[in-house]
Amino acid sequence: MPGMPDTDAALEGHLDSTHAARLESYMAFLRIPSISAMPEHADDCRRAAQWLADALAEAGLEHVEVAETGGHPVVYADWLHAPDAPTVLVYGHYDVQPVDPLELWTSPPFEPVVVGDRMLARGSADDKGQIHAHLMAAGALLATRDRLPINVKYLFEGEEESSSVNLAAWLAAERDRLVADVAIISDTGFFEGNVPAITLSLRGIMYAQIDVVGTDVDLHSGGYGGVVQNPANALATIIASLKGPDGRVRIPGFYDDVEPLSDADREAIAALPFDEAAYLQQHGLPALVGEVGYSTLERRGTRPTLDVNGLWGGFQGDGSKTIIPAHAHAKVSCRLVAAQDPDRIFEAFKAYIEEIAPPGVTTTVRLLGGGLPSVTPMDHPATQAAARALEATFGQAPVYIREGGSIPVCASFSSVLGLPVVLLGFVQPDSHAHAPNEWMDLGNYETSIRTIARAWDELVDLPR
Ligand SMILES: [Zn+2]
Repeated sequence: MPGMPDTDAALEGHLDSTHAARLESYMAFLRIPSISAMPEHADDCRRAAQWLADALAEAGLEHVEVAETGGHPVVYADWLHAPDAPTVLVYGHYDVQPVDPLELWTSPPFEPVVVGDRMLARGSADDKGQIHAHLMAAGALLATRDRLPINVKYLFEGEEESSSVNLAAWLAAERDRLVADVAIISDTGFFEGNVPAITLSLRGIMYAQIDVVGTDVDLHSGGYGGVVQNPANALATIIASLKGPDGRVRIPGFYDDVEPLSDADREAIAALPFDEAAYLQQHGLPALVGEVGYSTLERRGTRPTLDVNGLWGGFQGDGSKTIIPAHAHAKVSCRLVAAQDPDRIFEAFKAYIEEIAPPGVTTTVRLLGGGLPSVTPMDHPATQAAARALEATFGQAPVYIREGGSIPVCASFSSVLGLPVVLLGFVQPDSHAHAPNEWMDLGNYETSIRTIARAWDELVDLPR
């Protein structure tokens, strides 16, 4: 980039001289208990949105708005004065997870403290720390260059930790002002050992409930045992038929839309520094299991799953009660990979269960929720620009990882807005996100501000 060395020095100087104020601002943001799932924190969510809006305006961003969605508001801002350069849509979330069990925290979750090189507080990593890095990067670029190298639109939501229920509709309604060339989501992390990483894919999900009903009330197992169908036995038969001993799901058509791994994909995954023995020990497990023919990381990131999440029915108390339960139930979910569609998977799941359900009971299957998987190729120019920015600032080329979890909005960016998504996150892998004593590595936080600024420079030439 012409002139970059000078402006980088200016940026570094600015960031050095504003270090104390930056940490203070980060902590002020963390003090707001914006727990989206709890109605009693609705005002706090709104307060966090307003805090963010004020901070965006202070950084020099424009069209700042706290926009209504029907739930917790979305915060929007932009800077659009680079007519010949691409436009990036940045996404993060200002809401946080609940904090219980509170007694496991070493300090109150909404009273941030710096312990060594860590910022300890709820939201320090997921996701306020990452949003804050974006704010600081924009502020530093505008302070030292008076402009950004590209156009940037910011979209920070307040319902990510409660399934982003209102976001897809808001995105669809605001499609015109969200036009961009690429979306950057900063809500993921580095690889084991704090190795810089770009997440290439997230799994989708299909979540269903199976209800097996026999009679209106429990029956005496002496009087009826051996002559009526037992709903709990029937449910166990159904569940046992869903997967084979080879770890493969037996639902016909389940794998039809799964994209096979290329040799390059498999090589990249095999090259990741993953210590299976340490993983076993960390989780106190005697062995790992899974689909035959795939490694642990391939199973976790690139293959679909089927798991029972809950199972109930019949007598649950101490001692014994000789009944045939009136009904039995299970919650079952499938993690999905590209290009599996949750609705189609549900239809296949339902049809298979109806086919295998034992006689003598009524079995029903209903969909509780779903989300699409998402994937961005490793060789996408925006992915490569982000990789160059990570290597330039962290001094190490990123590894490419595939995450087993889901960020619902990620698929919405491609399905609603038609945007490629780059998952550029900076959290260390053991950050205790969603758990007590969440922390952010302050080295990662500081460097991520430089990475974001550098990524905006690297994206200037993105083909449009
Ligand atoms: Zn998050």
